[in-house]
Amino acid sequence: MTRTLITGANRGIGRALAELAHAEGHKVIAAMRDPATATDLPQGITRLKLDVTAQGDLDAMEHALASQPLDRLMCNAGLGFRKDRIGGDTGTIAEWQAVMAANVTGVFMTISAALPALRRANGAKISIISSQMGSSTLAAGGAYAYRASKAAALNIGMTLAADLKAEGIAVGIYHPGWVRTDMGGTRADLSAEESAVGLLSCLEALTLDQTGGFFNWDGRPHPV
Ligand code: NDP
Repeated sequence: MTRTLITGANRGIGRALAELAHAEGHKVIAAMRDPATATDLPQGITRLKLDVTAQGDLDAMEHALASQPLDRLMCNAGLGFRKDRIGGDTGTIAEWQAVMAANVTGVFMTISAALPALRRANGAKISIISSQMGSSTLAAGGAYAYRASKAAALNIGMTLAADLKAEGIAVGIYHPGWVRTDMGGTRADLSAEESAVGLLSCLEALTLDQTGGFFNWDGRPHPV
């Protein structure tokens, strides 16, 4: 059975991914900051406390994963931040640091803590949920902290892909679409379920030849 860990799995895209992977027969570990916020997840999904910015939680996750292989890791947890603009409300240093901690450091440290378990699997795969706002090709104005964090997450994915290819671990970086969640808002194009269907099938289809690639939720290559 495919063993799959998803971060930020209590709501939004992460929750839809957890429910879909469970329905498709994965053994799902739903990681979230506060497991009490998702007591209504389907039975059979394991809830794990994980704030991706908390060293203690990361250490506990590494320990909890110790005995078994981990086949799929989906780094979905993320913080949005829309207030910042140059010459206006730039946000505070503390607000910038919170975005970078969750969207950049948190992604890298989660992967690092899961790596021993990923190494035990045969052909493990890692999904990093970045954003089209992390693309340098499509750069537009505003949202500096979020854009910079998602560009860094994309870069981390590419660097990891180079390091892990020889071990047979593939890394895909994804734009999930504009999705109706607390972050995406009610006017977005896709439901969380539609995005999850695309993201999960993209990860299943990912090969080592494509490792380090940046893709849309529907599998089309995304400009870096
Ligand atoms: P939501 O705001 O609905 O959910 C965000 C999730 O991330 C929540 O589960 C939240 O947990 C979790 N999270 C935030 N910080 C941490 C942390 N430090 N540790 C652990 N979990 C954390 O967002 P979406 O579901 O819309 O977004 C999911 C991912 O997709 C994000 O990475 C986002 O940047 C990306 N994305 C989304 C788009 C969209 O249109 N929705 C577009 C492009 C990218 P908690 O409930 O505890 O706050």
